Parts: sequence; C-alpha cells; structure tokens
Amino acid sequence: MLNEEEKGYVSYTFPERLLKVKKLENFGRLNQEVIRSGVCTACCTCVSVCPEKALVMEDETPKLVGKCSACGICYRACPRTITSLKSLIGDYIAAFVGKSAIDKVKGQDGGVVTSLLLYAMDHGLIDAAIVTQKDEREPWKPVAKIATSSEDILKSSGSVYSHSRTVEALVEAIDKGYRSIAFVGTPCNIDAVAKMQMQPFGLLHLFMKVKILKVGLFCMDSFYHDGLKEFFEVKQGIPLSSISKMSISAGKFNIIYDGDKTAGWPVKDLDKYRSTSCHYCRDLTSELADISVGSVGSPDGYSTILVRSGVANELLEDAMEDGYLTLQPLDRDGLQKVLNLARLKKVQMYTERRRQTYVLKYVPTVAGVPEPLERRGAIPLVEEKAEAKAGITERALQKLLKVSDARFVDGGTMLQITLANNSGKPINDIKVRIAHLEDLFESNAWETEIETWYPFDELEFCYPRVKDDREYLLTISDRQGTILSQKLSVKEIEGKKLGESKKTE
Ligand SMILES: Cc1cc2nc3c(=O)[nH]c(=O)nc-3n(C[C@H](O)[C@H](O)[C@H](O)COP(=O)(O)OP(=O)(O)OC[C@H]3O[C@@H](n4cnc5c(N)ncnc54)[C@H](O)[C@@H]3O)c2cc1C
Repeated sequence: MLNEEEKGYVSYTFPERLLKVKKLENFGRLNQEVIRSGVCTACCTCVSVCPEKALVMEDETPKLVGKCSACGICYRACPRTITSLKSLIGDYIAAFVGKSAIDKVKGQDGGVVTSLLLYAMDHGLIDAAIVTQKDEREPWKPVAKIATSSEDILKSSGSVYSHSRTVEALVEAIDKGYRSIAFVGTPCNIDAVAKMQMQPFGLLHLFMKVKILKVGLFCMDSFYHDGLKEFFEVKQGIPLSSISKMSISAGKFNIIYDGDKTAGWPVKDLDKYRSTSCHYCRDLTSELADISVGSVGSPDGYSTILVRSGVANELLEDAMEDGYLTLQPLDRDGLQKVLNLARLKKVQMYTERRRQTYVLKYVPTVAGVPEPLERRGAIPLVEEKAEAKAGITERALQKLLKVSDARFVDGGTMLQITLANNSGKPINDIKVRIAHLEDLFESNAWETEIETWYPFDELEFCYPRVKDDREYLLTISDRQGTILSQKLSVKEIEGKKLGESKKTE
C-alpha cells in the first residue's frame, strides 16, 4: 500500500505541484492557441491526460464538458504547445540583470550593449563593431555603421524600431580588413550571421579568419520606417524629428518628444505598419547569438542578459570587474516574464494569416453583357484606406505583381486569371480591369475594386470569353496610376506559356 506522500508521486497532483503551473495554462489557453487556430492534430492526448476527466473528443476536436481546474497538464502534454525553456528562449549558460556603470552611456534600457562594446573596444578585443544609428537627414531611419571608436559606439546607443541593414555593414567591414568584430542585431540579423557561419558554403564558414561576437537584441516587432512616419507625422501630428526616444513596453508604444513630453499608444494601433516579416518570426531572444540583451524581465533602466557562449561570458564578467557595468542574477519572476513574451512570439505562427486565394467570379446578369463597374464582395475590407506604400516604388511594384496563371475554364467559356502579390506588403485601393482587345479597340471592359491586397495572397478572376477572341488586356492601377498592364494572348494561354499549371480543375 502506498502512503499518502507516495500516492502524491504517482497521482496527478505531484507533477502539478512540481510544475508550479500558473492558472494561465488552462484548457482555455489550449483552445485558443491550438484548437481554434487549427493546429490541433486530434491526437487526443489532452483528453487522455485530463485528471478531471473534463474533456471529450467531439468531431475530431477536444471539447470541455466538465470543470477545468487549470492544472496545466493538458497544455503541457499537447504536442503542439511550446513549453520547454530551450524551445522558448534557446540555450543559455547564465542570465543577468545589468546596467551600465558609465555616466555618459545613455542606453535604451540599461546601456549594457553600449558598455560591453566600449569595454571590448577600449581593451583592443575588437577592431570594429557593427551598430545602428539614426540617419542624420531622415529622423528615425536606421543606418548600419562600422564603429571603430568609442565615440562611434556611444553615438549608436538606443533602439531604432525598423529593420537595419547590419549584415551589409558587416560584409563591408570584412572587406575593409577588420578581423575581430562585434555584431549587434535583431534576431533576424543574428540568424543571417549564424547561417553564414554554420552553413558549408556560408561566407563566414569559408572565410574563418574573421572572429565575430554576435550581440543579439530581444525583438518582438519592427516597423516600416515610412509607416512610423505616417503614424506619427500624418496621424498624430508629431514630426519624427521632435521624438527623442521610442520604446515598447507592456504592449504600449511610447515616445518622448518635444523635450520632455510623453505619449503612448497600444502597439496594436501600429499593427499595419509592422513589418510583415515579423509575423513569421518566432525568435524573441536572438537564440543564436553569443549574448542576448533585452528589456523584458528587468526593471526600468536595466537590461536582461542571456549569456550563451563562453567567450561572451568571459567578456561580460571582465567588463563588470573593470567597472563598465553592474550585474545581478535574473530572478525567477524576471525569467518568467521573458518566457511569457517568448511564448507569445512563438504562438503567433498559429494565428498568422494563411496565404489565401480569393475568387472573384464574373457572373453576367444578362448572358454576354458584362456588368458595369461594380464593387465585388469577395475581398475582405479593412477600415483604413490610406496606407503608406512603405517605400515601394511603382517600378518595383510592377515587378512584384504577377500574373501567376491564366487558363480557360468552364468548358472554355471563361478566362481565369490568377494574380499574385509578391511585394511582401499590402497594396491598397487598387482597380483591376480586364477587357477584350481587338486590334486597338477594347470591348466588354470589366472592372473591380479591391481595398487591400494582402502580401502573398492570390486573386483569381473569371471573365467571360468573347467569340473569336485573340487578346485580352489586364490593367491594375492604384490611386497614383497604372502599376501593371499586360496583354494576354489566347494563343499563349492555350499553349500554357503564362504560368505553370498548379491547379486541377
Ligand atoms: C527593433 C527592435 C525591437 C525590440 N523589441 C524588444 C522587445 O519586444 N522586448 C525587449 O525586451 N527588447 C526589445 N528590443 C531590445 C531593446 O530595445 C534594447 O535594444 C535592449 O534592451 C538593449 O538595451 P541597452 O540599453 O543595453 O542597449 P543600448 O546600449 O542602448 O544599445 C542598443 C544597441 O542596439 C543597436 N540597435 C538599435 N537599433 C537597432 C536595429 N534596428 N537593428 C539592429 N541593431 C540596433 C544599436 O546599434 C546599439 O548598439 C528591441 C530592439 C529593437 C532594435
């Protein structure tokens, strides 16, 4: 017979106590992250392990039929949830809360990155650092720089919330002959350098003479510079040049402007200006860096530090001993905050918009007579129309919008055209026009308006064929004019020269 204590070890209450799970890890969370988002594999694990027997499988979907005690066991057993420390923030050997001990360092948070670079530069451990500064002519536009002096490093402190071309500066530094380089970057920047180091044909793998210390920043979001410009200058009436600091904390985008004025907005108000690439990123803490630094998990004015390599550990400790910065261990609550935010970033992949094909079918009211200009309902509408094109020129757009397929369907009575937006950005307020071309004359023109064409989404149009047709003209325009004009010849469509056959009818 087991005594009460021993019973605890084999019952569910033991792992429950051991995990010290938070009430947050309940079935509701599993439902939201895994079941409703469509990533549930219907493996039934959650139903099988529920100590309350509160779950059942109904139509291949776990359903709560009893009371959830929020023990967290189903959440942790699910093959789709991300729960281990390593899978959330990568490998690390030590975690600290740090602050610069140098008066003139005015960092984004604790000034740890700047102080560490200063220590390495002052002691001849690096001959260059790849940093990001604000453009002197275009406020808040990031410019990647090769810093070769303490002054350069000091000028680069603070965060610029847009993608910086740091790898370009790194390759330039290598070209110039720098061989011991500290590289500061966001997780995507760090990934690029790590790949260049690890892949068999990576530049830094082949050319091993250069030593690189990867200093990674935590990063949840990055924004298009033009988007920030529109948000602050056009919508809020605050010139970017008047803003001295931007920061993101507890879901708010905060600024200091006009000297000491402050303002803040929920980050989701800026969602449409968020770089689309960030929707696909799952790395909060620069998991492949030698050392990662962020603000979450530390009090204001301090930085959270995850040390991942021996070299970085030595450097950090030496910098502390030499009086460049102060360190204390990251406590359990701080680590939990990092883990929570890391999890939020990982699970965003569950809710990311999937690539979609919207089908706009032309259905003539009277056979053979096209409807006049009309708005079709198949495209989801967004409330805001005026979206900055975020730096994409008309010429670039032309290359990125593509007729990905054209074919005759419905027994050859309809021309079906598929268009792809490969620009990586939403395009707003466009008109798509299809017309039959006979010599120089157009007939049966049909036009439709689309509020927002999301990146990578495909639009499919069906247009009725005209007797003895030879050519059709497809035109796409936005508020500034035509961005794509393409003739589609019947011969080519029949010969399938326009796009690969990717669908079966
Ligand atoms: C786009 C972005 C998003 C971020 N999001 C988060 C977040 O969600 N949560 C969180 O905890 N921390 C985030 N951070 C990190 C945080 O803002 C601080 O950079 C970090 O805490 C280090 O602070 P510090 O005072 O030690 O840095 P500092 O001593 O001020 O040094 C900052 C360093 O960052 C570099 N830098 C600035 N902008 C960029 C850029 N765009 N790309 C590459 N390098 C840059 C500078 O060159 C400088 O070397 C983000 C940083 C960036 C750049």
